[in-house]
Amino acid sequence: MQLIDQLRAMLGADAVLTEASDLAGHTEDWRGRYRGEALCVVQPSSTEQVAGVVRAAVAAGVPVLPQGGNTSLCGGAVPEAAGPPPVIVSMARMRRIRSLDAANNSMEVEAGCVLATIQQAAMDAGRLYAVSLGAEGSCQIGGNIATNAGGTGVLRYGNTRDNILGLEVVLPDGDIWNGLYRLRKNNTGLDLKHLFIGAEGTLGIVTAATLKLHPLPTAHAVAWMAPPSPAAALEMLGLLQAACGAQLSAYEMIDAGQLQIVLDHVPGRRAPLPPTHKWHVLVELSDTRGEQELTDAMQAVLQQGAERGLVDDAVLASSGAQRAAMWEVRHSVSEGNKKAGVGLTTDTAVPVSAVPEFIERATAAVHAIVPGLPIILVAHLGDGNVHFIPFYSHAEWEALPDREAMGLRIKHAVNEVGHALGGTFSAEHGIGQTLTSEMAQFKPPVELALMHGIKQLLDPGNLFNPHRLLPPATPPAR
Ligand SMILES: Cc1cc2nc3c(=O)[nH]c(=O)nc-3n(C[C@H](O)[C@H](O)[C@H](O)COP(=O)(O)OP(=O)(O)OC[C@H]3O[C@@H](n4cnc5c(N)ncnc54)[C@H](O)[C@@H]3O)c2cc1C
Repeated sequence: MQLIDQLRAMLGADAVLTEASDLAGHTEDWRGRYRGEALCVVQPSSTEQVAGVVRAAVAAGVPVLPQGGNTSLCGGAVPEAAGPPPVIVSMARMRRIRSLDAANNSMEVEAGCVLATIQQAAMDAGRLYAVSLGAEGSCQIGGNIATNAGGTGVLRYGNTRDNILGLEVVLPDGDIWNGLYRLRKNNTGLDLKHLFIGAEGTLGIVTAATLKLHPLPTAHAVAWMAPPSPAAALEMLGLLQAACGAQLSAYEMIDAGQLQIVLDHVPGRRAPLPPTHKWHVLVELSDTRGEQELTDAMQAVLQQGAERGLVDDAVLASSGAQRAAMWEVRHSVSEGNKKAGVGLTTDTAVPVSAVPEFIERATAAVHAIVPGLPIILVAHLGDGNVHFIPFYSHAEWEALPDREAMGLRIKHAVNEVGHALGGTFSAEHGIGQTLTSEMAQFKPPVELALMHGIKQLLDPGNLFNPHRLLPPATPPAR
């Protein structure tokens, strides 16, 4: 095909993949739930090459699908089964750390840099890049930006949006926007980087970013505790915030069912407290000095909580290895769930104060559809973000007559509850190809119309990740 020849001439033959065996890792998501065909996968090495690919694909009327680490949980990074095969633009070869300015607390990186590599480079310079998530060994900063990834550091440092100072983007017409500012202040009109953060590749391809760095915490106190209920966990959050302020850097809750799955399915994981406790919370305090002070503060709050009946049991990590082991349990939930069965993962955020009511009402809503269906839960409780996961074994799931419809019905029931409590159905994972109907249902029509208008302005041919993020139906005119 002419386009493929053109791309080979531009990038070199080894950077344009067309063999089925080479495409396999790019056309299916990591859980094996979404799959589609691609015309080819290209691996550009520079921003100019990305721009060339975009111009050629758009001129040929072929859709463009930017791809990072392909760790999306909503089918965002692979082609849709029914659509025309796109050119997948893999960012894997654009993984240079261009510069690090320690005095300015910033670094400039290419979009294909793996998140863990960025964290390490910042650490080597005595700085922290604060976004952290279970997929950090394979997700890329470009994917994090496109999905506005959250993770476990949001409580203290915000989500990806809060940690970006500037962007470089190849627009759908092939123009390169150099917005790689390194500034904390810049009131010169609209801050356009925010258009592309969270746009899931529908408005262009992020090719580089300037990241915000923080001082590197060198002192830590990590505890694992068992509150009797989510309401008690919430009260403990209040006590910790009052006592420790900004030192509180993570507050993650999982339930006993989720913990048990990790123990059963991920080798080497140990329970810090027995799964006979129904609720478990991992708490981290961190600072640039005063490890003993942090430990004392943690112990004092745990003591206070125990006296008020807010904590049934707790254990404080006494070494770096124990701290890491606790975090490994938390970061293993997705791997465990993938092996254990089929989790209907939802991504609700509600006001933090509404989390206990959300859990109660969502449980009732799911059980009104499937009485007794097991539900597991993992929450970034400090952010009000609950992954509420109705869970089928592989065999039960396979036996369902209409799996897709049932999955949508159950997730929608959960999303309805979140919406009724002033929440959102997508806190951090994005929309991808799975949640566009929820966008149509829950987003105010005026917001949808604005988003469609921006899409039309930047990508009039609707070739960038078509059928993602926005619902297909034209919204009512404003
Ligand atoms: C084990 C595990 C744990 C996870 N935990 C979390 C978590 O705690 N918090 C969280 O937010 N997410 C989490 N995720 C989801 C996922 O890791 C994030 O959404 C991540 O940001 C995706 O990055 P990626 O590089 O893999 O992007 P991909 O999956 O490759 O792509 C995601 C979307 O971004 C677009 N895209 C990718 N690169 C670019 C680019 N350069 N320019 C424009 N668009 C682009 C793609 O087209 C797609 O729409 C987890 C996933 C796994 C597997």
